[in-house]
Amino acid sequence: MRGISIELKMIIGAILFAMFLVGYERFQFSENIVQQFLESKKSKNKLLIDTISPVIGLNISLGLNDANTEYLNQIVKQNSDLLNFDLIDSNGFTIFHFEKNPLSESQKIVDGIRYASQIIKDPVTGESVGTVHLYFDDHEYQAMMQKNREITLKIFGISFVMLMIFILFVKKEFKFLKKLSEHVLQYDPQINNFTLQKSDRTDEVGVIHNAIISMVDKINGYATLLDDLNHSLAIKVEERTQELQEANLQLKELSLTDSLTHLSNRRSLAIHLQEIWELAKRHRSIVSIIMCDIDHFKQVNDKYGHIVGDTVLKDIANILQVSLKRKSDFLARYGGEEFMIVLYEVDIHAAEELCISIQKNLKNIGKFEYKEVKLNPITMSFGISSTVPDEASEYNDLIKLADTALYQAKKSGRNRFISMNQKN
Ligand code: GH3
Ligand code: MG
Ligand code: MG
Repeated sequence: MRGISIELKMIIGAILFAMFLVGYERFQFSENIVQQFLESKKSKNKLLIDTISPVIGLNISLGLNDANTEYLNQIVKQNSDLLNFDLIDSNGFTIFHFEKNPLSESQKIVDGIRYASQIIKDPVTGESVGTVHLYFDDHEYQAMMQKNREITLKIFGISFVMLMIFILFVKKEFKFLKKLSEHVLQYDPQINNFTLQKSDRTDEVGVIHNAIISMVDKINGYATLLDDLNHSLAIKVEERTQELQEANLQLKELSLTDSLTHLSNRRSLAIHLQEIWELAKRHRSIVSIIMCDIDHFKQVNDKYGHIVGDTVLKDIANILQVSLKRKSDFLARYGGEEFMIVLYEVDIHAAEELCISIQKNLKNIGKFEYKEVKLNPITMSFGISSTVPDEASEYNDLIKLADTALYQAKKSGRNRFISMNQKN
């Protein structure tokens, strides 16, 4: 059944259904024939009784009972299907009686096939002179009915059984299709859960089944490809993000760093000061700043050129950096040949100590030497300011005070520091 195409199965189904209908039609047809047979039997019986009635009536009226008996014996002989014949006169006496076999109960049924009766009348006066009762054999009818029933039942039965078997097979086919569609509905390409194997069926269902399996194979292939692509894309995105983060970091560093000395620039200084200032306000801490300026730096540029001047700036920056004592000490290039040191929780005396230490380090270097060029010793002047900021304080005021102190240091001979405490 599996190898048969759906088209052929449909044709078989139609034929079986047609057989079923033909069986039903045949049943109807034979029912009609039986009816016709019954009608002809009835009219034959009536014809017989109509034929004999006038003769019997005449014989009775003439008192010819022997003639009646002889006549009726002839009739009985000629009609082999007669089982019982009774002629009863108007007084209830039996004039003629014939009985082939005793009648069974089924044969006593009063209808036109098995039984017929008629009142016999005097042909001259029209008066009732008796009654005839005739019983007929119905085995022909019974046999016909039986055969008809058997054939109809056989046709019905066979086509019904075949139709049922066919429906069962078709249902089985649908089960196969249902299972296939369940697998298709539950299929998830991410976990590749399609477990059906290729079918060896050659009908349309087998073709659809195998087509779905090869489609699922292709989807799985594409899903894997997509996964790989996604994976490599994710790696690339991660790489790019990291590169971007690094670039951002570099950019941030660049935006906060002085390109010549690599110290923090003015922008970075402003951010740091803002933070320190808020912290100091909150904790009532002392903040000191030192404004550092190279003495007569213009002359260095003028005498040795800007390139040497740049080198000196880098070296001075380095000296300042190494002179710092604590992690929280902050150094920035303020601009030109000026630097600023911000000291958190460092008082004016400790700031002075730091200036002395820077001066010492500068002195230790003595003369700056670059290839053939030998410079005179370099000195610096410092303006120191200190305060414990309150709510109204601004760090720009502290810078201004350090600037004033630096100006005084320059004015009073350079290579020195001047300290000023800011009073709040
Ligand atoms: P003073 O002792 O009064 O501070 O004298 P000074 O010459 O150091 O001060 P002035 O303000 O007259 O000159 C500062 C010089 O610093 C002028 C400028 O050429 C030099 N300068 C500023 N920035 C740079 C720089 O980035 N590179 C170099 N080579 N020189 C710079
Ligand atoms: Mg200056
Ligand atoms: Mg200067």
